[in-house]
Amino acid sequence: MIFSTNSKSDLKNAADMLKENEPTLKIDFKNSEPSNNNQLWLKKTFKKYYFKYFINVALPEKINLHEFGFRYFDEKMYRHFSFNSPGEIYAFVLKFSPSDIYCSSSFYRNPSEPMDKKEWYGSELIFDIDGKDLHLECTLEHNYTRCHGCNLINAGVLEKCSNCNGSRLNVIEIPCKNCIFFLKKEVKKLINLLVEDFGIDSKTISVYFSGNNGFHLHVADKDYLPLLSVERAEISSYLLGKGFKLETLGLKINNDKKFIPILKNKQLLDCGWRGRILKNLKINFYSGKNADNNFIKQIEKLETIWNCDFQQKVAKTIEDLSVKIDPMVTMDIHRIFRLAGSLNSKSGFAKILCNDVDSFDPFKDACFFDKSTIEIVSKIDTSIFFKGKKYNLNKGSNSVPEYVAVYLISKGLADINLKEI
Ligand SMILES: [Zn+2]
Ligand SMILES: [Zn+2]
Repeated sequence: MIFSTNSKSDLKNAADMLKENEPTLKIDFKNSEPSNNNQLWLKKTFKKYYFKYFINVALPEKINLHEFGFRYFDEKMYRHFSFNSPGEIYAFVLKFSPSDIYCSSSFYRNPSEPMDKKEWYGSELIFDIDGKDLHLECTLEHNYTRCHGCNLINAGVLEKCSNCNGSRLNVIEIPCKNCIFFLKKEVKKLINLLVEDFGIDSKTISVYFSGNNGFHLHVADKDYLPLLSVERAEISSYLLGKGFKLETLGLKINNDKKFIPILKNKQLLDCGWRGRILKNLKINFYSGKNADNNFIKQIEKLETIWNCDFQQKVAKTIEDLSVKIDPMVTMDIHRIFRLAGSLNSKSGFAKILCNDVDSFDPFKDACFFDKSTIEIVSKIDTSIFFKGKKYNLNKGSNSVPEYVAVYLISKGLADINLKEI
């Protein structure tokens, strides 16, 4: 495991470090102050989280080999920081209250130098599964659309604003139980492929909730650390099931334009994508002199059941069995990733390790704010479940627990009541 939780002694020393080691400023933060009351309140509330729950933050074992980056409540990104100890990072986070904290999956000799001078050593293999890539129909109903023209929040995903007819809209994602179920399904498919087809030890795979609407998988297997971008792109293509043809499955077209097996060795048909597809379609292979004819008859029978031809069915099966990862994330070895245990400013949830993917509920397990009552002004009528309880909000003033307030304000669906500032 590359990542480990800080020891308590590190944190105990952190308060002293805050006094003794004034974090070195490499940039001018004068312009990084929040520009509105929502950001001001979130900044104050996020700081409280880091003060209380820094123990959640999982820092890399060799901190000094990683690049760190921060986003502030002015929404700008600052990169190329390096630290030597958990205490230094703790001091920095409490002093500057970032909205988001990032850390490279790569190891560098000089992590705070510009990219061409960093001297790359290697990088963990990382996969990103994001709700927007699943294209689930439920999202059209329960997500919201904010109009850039008139600022109206429209219920549902629309192409044009219902008020001003404007088309500059951005989607506000509020994952539902169905979304989370299908995200978890992708996570489990991915783990299965990594273990079965790549021989990766499952103990080196860590699953994190991304803090908003997805999951990140970190693979710390040492064999994969040196892989270059192009090799990581090959792994992504394999997982996405790109470029498979029927020939790859060990089949060819005979003179009568019927598919027959090229391979006669069953062992060769049992592994990887080939085995997975054939098993999923319940296709048998025959031996002996009638083998090809038996195979052709079997496919014809199955095509009637499927109500589509063999090639279409294989394409559909690949689509179902492939993992919906973002290939750009996996191949980018210079990317910085949200630090585990840190907060995601798009939701106020923490990016958090999921020890049990099946039972994980972000609206309970990634939510660390308290239940004290906060006054907010909701921009919409809505209902939302948190920690097993349903909250019904009307447009206008509402009193809700702090964790509901953080979520709705982070999502841009509510404003903080001025009396809370
Ligand atoms: Zn509008
Ligand atoms: Zn959904």
